[in-house]
Amino acid sequence: MSVLDSLKSHFTSEFPRLASGQYIHIIALRHSQSFPIFQTDGVLNTARTQAGLETKDPVGRLVMFKRKQTTPERLAGRELLRSMNLTSAEDEKADNYCAYNGEKSCKKCPDCILYGFAIGDSGAERSKVYSDSAFSLTPYETSHHSMTFNAPSEGGTMSEGGQMRHSINEQDHVIPEVTFPAVETLRDTTYEGFLYVLGNFLRTRRYGAQESRTGTMKNHIVSIAFCDGEIFSNLHFTQALYDAMKPDLNAPIDELKARATTVARELLDREPVRQNPVLFGEEVEALLEEVGALYRDETRLTETMGTLYQQTLTYAQKYGAFANPKKKSGKSKS
Ligand SMILES: [Zn+2]
Repeated sequence: MSVLDSLKSHFTSEFPRLASGQYIHIIALRHSQSFPIFQTDGVLNTARTQAGLETKDPVGRLVMFKRKQTTPERLAGRELLRSMNLTSAEDEKADNYCAYNGEKSCKKCPDCILYGFAIGDSGAERSKVYSDSAFSLTPYETSHHSMTFNAPSEGGTMSEGGQMRHSINEQDHVIPEVTFPAVETLRDTTYEGFLYVLGNFLRTRRYGAQESRTGTMKNHIVSIAFCDGEIFSNLHFTQALYDAMKPDLNAPIDELKARATTVARELLDREPVRQNPVLFGEEVEALLEEVGALYRDETRLTETMGTLYQQTLTYAQKYGAFANPKKKSGKSKS
């Protein structure tokens, strides 16, 4: 039996109205592949934290805020939905029109229902996808690099005498192969909803400042854990991995993954939650191969996303924005 088939029994066939305590944690290492920029107001986001759980020294870390993680993944999913004509970005009058996260979002498609929306007084849907700030495993000092663009100096170089030149066009970037341990959690989902969010997680390659287009990253999944509650934080996971890897924090990703697997297993076993099932190692690899095959198969993918759309639509009609059309009388559009 395939891994996906063995997981099917752990899902409900429709999205429940109330939180039902079914959490799926995607435990991963986000790994930079070029020079992403995670910044606010032109400065890379950093935070001072304890280095490890046992290593108490303070260390500055790069931070990837949660929206920097979920926004590109949402957009990847929306692109897929549009390519299948399940949603549209063109015709505002079309039944399948959905604008990203605002007044004109459709409140019924997989993106709206799974990732949530908030629209003034006309309703809200809590996100079923949880993420939180992720922190670099390695210190800020050795994880970033300052680069200058389109600002030729007299020497045409970025640094002069070994000192970085400070100009208005100078920009700090995260360097390649910086690791951000992260847990992304999906709750109360159907099987198809799981495939959608997992697919977005695997298919998203560009993170960080939109204008830069340089922020390629790869998400390496360490574990998929079905639990009945929330688990450890990204920072806790990062600190535990720091202790386990020190002083080889820049080890090859395969080594980091192997060590992260051990660490995640130990941390999970200390959580006050029931686990069933939890995938590690070869099972994760087999699952990812199956999910990859599904996403390469036009017929199966269309069928899966079509089913998902029906599920989110049904949810919206039963419990969501379309459940009580008479609620608002001011805006008659019937
Ligand atoms: Zn929508």
